[in-house]
Amino acid sequence: MTLRLPLIAALTAGLGLAACSPAEPDSVVNVFSARHYASDQEVFRAFTEETGIRINLVEAGGDLLIERVRADGERSPADVIITVDAGRLHRAADAGLFQPLTGLDDVLARVPDTLEHPQGLWFGFSTRARVIVYARDRVDPSEIQSYYDVASPAFEGRVCVRSSSNVYNQSLVAGMIAEDGAEAAETFSAGIARNMARAPQGGDTDQIRAVAAGECDVAIVNHYYLARLINAEDGADRAVGEAVGIVFPDQGQGGTYVNISGAGIAANAPNPEAARALLRFLMSERAQRAFAELTNEFPADPSVTYDNAVLDGFAGFEARELNVSALGDNAAEAQRIFDRTGWQ
Ligand code: FE
Repeated sequence: MTLRLPLIAALTAGLGLAACSPAEPDSVVNVFSARHYASDQEVFRAFTEETGIRINLVEAGGDLLIERVRADGERSPADVIITVDAGRLHRAADAGLFQPLTGLDDVLARVPDTLEHPQGLWFGFSTRARVIVYARDRVDPSEIQSYYDVASPAFEGRVCVRSSSNVYNQSLVAGMIAEDGAEAAETFSAGIARNMARAPQGGDTDQIRAVAAGECDVAIVNHYYLARLINAEDGADRAVGEAVGIVFPDQGQGGTYVNISGAGIAANAPNPEAARALLRFLMSERAQRAFAELTNEFPADPSVTYDNAVLDGFAGFEARELNVSALGDNAAEAQRIFDRTGWQ
């Protein structure tokens, strides 16, 4: 996805015209989002319906998004920044792009501590698990109960996984560094590089399709890509989803790694009240249900119920008790490990 620069220019110009006095409530919120999911259109529509606050949406890849806010500095029109990875939120926080989440204590009380920035600059509103999928007819799930099993010699030439340039894999290895140390993470990365059935290509859905097609026997993916296939209207997609099984790794051994979709308020937000209102709304029951029902993500608020039998079947696993900000702390080290071990 590319940053739509003309849109940003229009947005910036529009703000000049629409600027309201501090006494008036904000009538618009400028959302810089790295997400591209159906649930968000629904959530934003519902937000405007409930609050009367209009949303200006700027979509871009996470790195571009953050770079843009940084480059614009005090002139940035961004109010809310949303990404699909804790590592990027952490980087944005380190760059001073967020302001403290004041006035949202009751909202943050419903977010598990592991999904919040330690100094309260951002929080996760939904979670995704990094799981193992396997060919039901060729793999016994007892062989792949840990991430490290996929990196063992038994799976040489049998693994599909996307490129190490993808932030999901960076965060997985960053988590391993935090939990097991750099040496263990390097052993894992080297094993995965050796075990690849093909050079990394495509996204997580492509890895699942490759397992179903017999190109490889196991893959490491985010859980919602599989849930989406199983829930698909298209019969061929459903058949792909049903040809593979899912393992939530490391149960009883520290738990499965999870990442977040998260949000924070930009340091120079021109509409901070509207930004707070949107963050509050992201944790509302209505929004939390939409993430579960439309995007197959787990709601950050564990008390929220939803209508999605596939996701419900996935729920209840043991997740890592690691604060997701650790994924950002170790991202650079993870990249060095990928480079050293030849995970392209
Ligand atoms: Fe994704």
